[in-house]
Amino acid sequence: MAPELQSHPIRSNLDLELPAGRMRELVDKALERIVDHISSLDSQPSADVEGCEALARSLVEPLPEKPAEYSDLLDLLFKELVPKSFNTAGPGYLAYIPGGGLFHSAVADLISDAVNRYVGVWIAAPGLAQLEANVIRWFSEIVGYPAEARGILTTGGSLANFTALVTARRHLLPDNFLAGTLYASDQVHHSVVKAAMLAGFPAANVREIAADDACRIRLDHLERSIESDRREGKHPFLIVGNAGTTNTGAVDDLDGLANLAAREKMWLHVDAAYGGFFMLTRKGREVMRGIERAHSITLDPHKGLFLPYGTGSLLVRDGDALRRAHSVDATYLPPMQQDADLVDFCLYSPELSRDFRGLRVWLPIKMHGIEPFRAWAAEELRSIPSVEVLAEPQLSLVAFRVVRSGWDTETANDLNRRLMGGVNALKRVYLTGTVLRGRFVIRICVLSFRTHHDRMQAALEDIRATLRELT
Ligand SMILES: *Cc1c(COP(=O)(O)O)cnc(C)c1O
Repeated sequence: MAPELQSHPIRSNLDLELPAGRMRELVDKALERIVDHISSLDSQPSADVEGCEALARSLVEPLPEKPAEYSDLLDLLFKELVPKSFNTAGPGYLAYIPGGGLFHSAVADLISDAVNRYVGVWIAAPGLAQLEANVIRWFSEIVGYPAEARGILTTGGSLANFTALVTARRHLLPDNFLAGTLYASDQVHHSVVKAAMLAGFPAANVREIAADDACRIRLDHLERSIESDRREGKHPFLIVGNAGTTNTGAVDDLDGLANLAAREKMWLHVDAAYGGFFMLTRKGREVMRGIERAHSITLDPHKGLFLPYGTGSLLVRDGDALRRAHSVDATYLPPMQQDADLVDFCLYSPELSRDFRGLRVWLPIKMHGIEPFRAWAAEELRSIPSVEVLAEPQLSLVAFRVVRSGWDTETANDLNRRLMGGVNALKRVYLTGTVLRGRFVIRICVLSFRTHHDRMQAALEDIRATLRELT
C-alpha cells in the first residue's frame, strides 16, 4: 500500500457518514429556521436588495480547508443572504411570474436526495420512475392529451421549450436543417429564441410575427410569412403558440394555430409555462381551447403549481416522437424497457443522471388531491383588480399604465416607471414592468397560493397613494 494512504487514515470519509443523532440535529436545526422564515413571510419586505453588491463581493473566498460551524452557516443563510433578495415566495411578490414554493415539495426533495435513487433508467428504481411517469400522465390529463403522450420533467420552461424545438426539428427536418424556419408572435418568451439559437438555427430563421391589440399572434400575418418563406425555398416547420405571455398573459388563438399547423404540416408547440395549469379551471379551458391539438406543450409546475424553482415539464402528444429525438444506445447501460408503459426517462430527455424531481410534484398532489390547486387557480382568475388595463386580462396577469391627456409617450413612460418604483419602495408588493410598442406598462401577476385578497387591496392602495404623490 502506498505510504501516504497508510499515513492518512480515511477518517475524513468516515466523518461524512453522519450518526443518527447528528442527522436529526442537522434537520431539526434547519427546520427551526425554515419554520420561522415561512411563518414570517407575510411581514417580510416584498424585496430588499440594498447593498447587495458589497454583500456578494464580501462572500468570495478560496476553497475551504477547515470545517465551519453548522450554526454559523445557517446564520449566514437565514440572517444575511436569504433576506437580501426578492421575496419570491412571499404574498407580495406580483412580479415577473411568481413561484410560491410548496413546503411539501421541500420535504419530498429531502427524501429523494437522502435515499438518492436513480430514476434516469427504469430498472434502477421502477416504482419511483413510475411515480414520475404518473405525474406526466396527470399533466397530460390536465391538458387533454391521449394515452400515448409522453413527457419529461425539466428544470424549467426554458429547457422544455428547447427540448420541444429539438423534437420538432428531428421529426420534420433533414439532418441538414438550416433551411428550417420557425414562427412565433413578437410576444413570445425569449427562451424560444434562445432555444432556436442553441439548437443551431441562425437568428434569421426565427420569424417574429406581429401581435394584435390584445397581444395575440396575427394569424393572417403568420400565414403570409409561411407562404413567402416557402416561395423562397425555406422549410417552415414549427409554430410556437402562447398560452399566457409573460408581458400581458395573452393567449393565442390555439385552435386557429392548430388548423394552420395541420394545413401546413408543421409542428405546433404551445408555450403554456405560465398559463398551463389554469387548464384546471373551466375558464382556463375555454381560453385555451385547442391546446390539446398541439404537438407539444410546455408547463411550468414551479409557476402554476407553486412548486420550488427547478420544476418544468414538456409534454409531447406523440410520445414516440420525443423518444426518437433522444434515443442513443450505450453498451454500459442496462437494457431499456420495450413495453411502452414502462418509461426509461433517459430515452426521452437530454439528461441521464439527475435528481428525482418527480417526487416533489407527486407528494403535494397525492397529499391534497388536485382540488386545492384548482380552487386556487379559480380564485386567482377572479382576484385580478380592475385598473386601467391595456388588454382585458385572460388569466391572472394584468398590464396597465396611467395616462392623462396631454402626456406624450416619454412623459407617460417616465411617470409609470416612477409609479412602479414608488410602489415597490413601500415593500408591501413587488411589481415589474415591460415595454409594449414603446409604451412602458406595469404588470401585476398573481400566481402564488400565499397571495390573498388583502394583498391585492394593499397593492391598489399603494398604487393610488403613490400616484397621488406623483401627480
Ligand atoms: C417562465 C416562462 C418561460 C421560461 O421558463 P423558466 O421556467 O423560467 O425557464 C417560458 N415561457 C413562458 C411563457 C414563461 O412564462
